[in-house]
Amino acid sequence: MTLPGAADLARAGLNLQAVFAVAELPAEMAAGLRQEFDREGRFGQLILLGHGGRRLWEAVEASGIASEHRIDDYSVGVVDAWLARHLPGHRHRLVYPGDYPVGLQSLGKLAGWHHPSPFMVGINAQWGTWFAYRVALLADTNLPPTAPVAGASPCAACTGRPCVAACPAGAVGEAGFDLAACIAYRRQPASRCRTTCQARLACPVGTEHRYCEAQIERTYALSLRMIVERAG
Ligand code: SF4
Ligand code: SF4
Repeated sequence: MTLPGAADLARAGLNLQAVFAVAELPAEMAAGLRQEFDREGRFGQLILLGHGGRRLWEAVEASGIASEHRIDDYSVGVVDAWLARHLPGHRHRLVYPGDYPVGLQSLGKLAGWHHPSPFMVGINAQWGTWFAYRVALLADTNLPPTAPVAGASPCAACTGRPCVAACPAGAVGEAGFDLAACIAYRRQPASRCRTTCQARLACPVGTEHRYCEAQIERTYALSLRMIVERAG
């Protein structure tokens, strides 16, 4: 299924697109969404938009947008323009970006975009780990729901698992991901992961879609800042 105006979204960098019926989402997720955003039951669908590869960053740079959360602001602006042009007359509520814990990875699993990697970032065969969720919204649309992207996790067939050896903190291992070790290492002044993730760089899947250095640095600098702020 193709969204109306899918090419406009893709040109602007939002090239991952999925539509779900709210009633077919996991019961707890659907109930939470209704409670938070839709007590009147106006919105029957959830639209999830993401980006894969470098196009979004290039488009954000070209837009000249300079706000603190410029990828979010850019993405919401693109979606607003897309809704106005291609789904006029439909009402919607923005679910993400925002503080509401919608469960993006769960939605990503339902869309077939997300398989768990050993370092907790989602992975799929097309984009590797170089994709992300940008916008989720509820809408009173009646679009055909999207079939999930088929395919197994690339990790299942990965020989050598280079991401494990590449993590300087030993946080990525067969026993699972050690978040505390990752955070403790990232906070060190001489850490090699202050503005990147060595394990992610070592993964051989989808390397042609790897973000440019500026995007990687910005992404990880933001996450490190959040880690430091939360720790007080
Ligand atoms: S290096 Fe292998 S195991 Fe690690 S994330 Fe990539 S595909 Fe998965
Ligand atoms: S950010 Fe660094 S410490 Fe954390 S998982 Fe990635 S490689 Fe390991």
